[in-house]
Amino acid sequence: ELSKQGCILEAAIEAGAKEIINIKDNLNEWDSKVGDGDCGTTMYRGATTILEDLKKRYPMNDAAGTINEIGSTVRRVMGGTSGILYDILCKAAYASLKQNTSIGANEWADALEASVAAVSKYGGASAGYRTMLDALIPACTVLKQFDELIVLKQSLKAGDDPVTAFIASSEAASAGAESTKQMQAKAGRSSYIAPDLVASVPDPGAVAAAAWYRAAAHAVKS
Ligand code: ADP
Ligand code: MG
Ligand code: MG
Repeated sequence: ELSKQGCILEAAIEAGAKEIINIKDNLNEWDSKVGDGDCGTTMYRGATTILEDLKKRYPMNDAAGTINEIGSTVRRVMGGTSGILYDILCKAAYASLKQNTSIGANEWADALEASVAAVSKYGGASAGYRTMLDALIPACTVLKQFDELIVLKQSLKAGDDPVTAFIASSEAASAGAESTKQMQAKAGRSSYIAPDLVASVPDPGAVAAAAWYRAAAHAVKS
């Protein structure tokens, strides 16, 4: 029997995975211009397997356990740089989430912060390197701001609630992904962007991260 939170988590994961499937070709096209052309295929492999594993393997009422299982899926099927980095991301999120008995927006904010730190530590990239972190770091910053507001119990503006926090955070992720168009890469395969591509091609990994995050955030809303 799914709890209300389990239901929301399942809807969010499903929405995120489906969005990656939708944008597979775009991701491959961008990666073919600035990398080796497989970012969409790699992400698609993860997303389709997550959808297959969703009902049969993931203990949806246990958010930490579910993220841990997503990590296993990703590790098994993705490969590539994004596969390794999403494995690291899931492990860090799991380690953070499992410390809590109840999980809300604050705990997800802490988990995202731990994930971003782990990806940055192991991958050697930080903000402005033209990677997935350029979507995830701004998302994390915004989610943590709401987190602090909630912790301090400051008067939240009407409509400022965890759902609003996730939506605002996902908008920051999208803006961050868009901003990679202007960046010269410092990590990964796309370490040189031809001048004619600057301003037209975003980092595919950043777009992918913003896309699943935005879709998942909007699933929390509904
Ligand atoms: P590969 O480069 O092995 O083909 P993918 O195409 O699956 O990997 O993924 C490429 C994406 O991985 C990039 O668009 C970028 O967002 C992300 N990426 C690459 N290197 C790093 C890194 N060191 N830290 C964070 N993200 C990275
Ligand atoms: Mg690639
Ligand atoms: Mg590759």
